[in-house]
Amino acid sequence: MSWREAATYWIQFQVTGARYRQSMQTGFRPLGTFGLDQTGTCGLCGVYGRLSVTHVPPHGAGNDQAAATMGTRADEGLARVQPGTYRDGGVWKWLLCEVCNMKVGRYDEEFIRWWRMLWERWSDKTVPKPGAVGILNFTMAKPGAFIRSVLGGMFAMNPHLRPRYPDVAEAILRDDPVAMPSDLRLQMSLFFHGFRYVIGQTMVGVSAPDFSSITSLNVEGEWAWPPFCLALVDPNGSDWRAGAMDISEWMLETSQVVRDVKVKLGVLGADELYMSRFQNEA
Ligand SMILES: [Zn+2]
Repeated sequence: MSWREAATYWIQFQVTGARYRQSMQTGFRPLGTFGLDQTGTCGLCGVYGRLSVTHVPPHGAGNDQAAATMGTRADEGLARVQPGTYRDGGVWKWLLCEVCNMKVGRYDEEFIRWWRMLWERWSDKTVPKPGAVGILNFTMAKPGAFIRSVLGGMFAMNPHLRPRYPDVAEAILRDDPVAMPSDLRLQMSLFFHGFRYVIGQTMVGVSAPDFSSITSLNVEGEWAWPPFCLALVDPNGSDWRAGAMDISEWMLETSQVVRDVKVKLGVLGADELYMSRFQNEA
């Protein structure tokens, strides 16, 4: 099975070396209820009201397959992190108001274009192994649109971001240039694997039954979305991945700037994902 076929299915989800098949829903508890309500606070403009269906990543970037919400299930006294029931329609939640959703939608075409280009380039070939470095050229690219599509989705998925970084939210919506703060950087890597996920909450904590170990994910957002992995991190509080490229400076350009973009990206293994730091056993 090629990586492309493998990526078509969520076969298994690997967390900290343990594999969990989709199992009975008895006792399953979602990690949160964020994004399940049609009314709430928009992650970009901050207005409370009616929300719209928000696909993260964009629907056209392969985000139309069966997806499941992560949660825990008590199993012999241990809280295991695992996906819940798979449903068609990709990864989406009620996150952005309709106006903001449409504004971010203007940028999505560029993300989809990059995603598709890489997907097709490697779909029938042997993919680079973890630790390798891929050098890629995107001609006639719009890096300012690409990064706004990504950050728009990350702000949608993480309600803590807009209150802390209102100027970045504004710059996404208004297509203004902005210097990203030093404690909020977007890192980009390559990732080829049979599973994919999106997380958007700061510091997801999983505690062991006896509270002897608590794991925090020090990441504001992560898309493990083959062939990309994109993570929004504070470099001061989180180790920077080897080979990851800091693409934050693309926010200094508007979405209209067209140029050739050369990127040098390390290839991640599954054990390097932030999600893999969930601990399931005490
Ligand atoms: Zn809004």
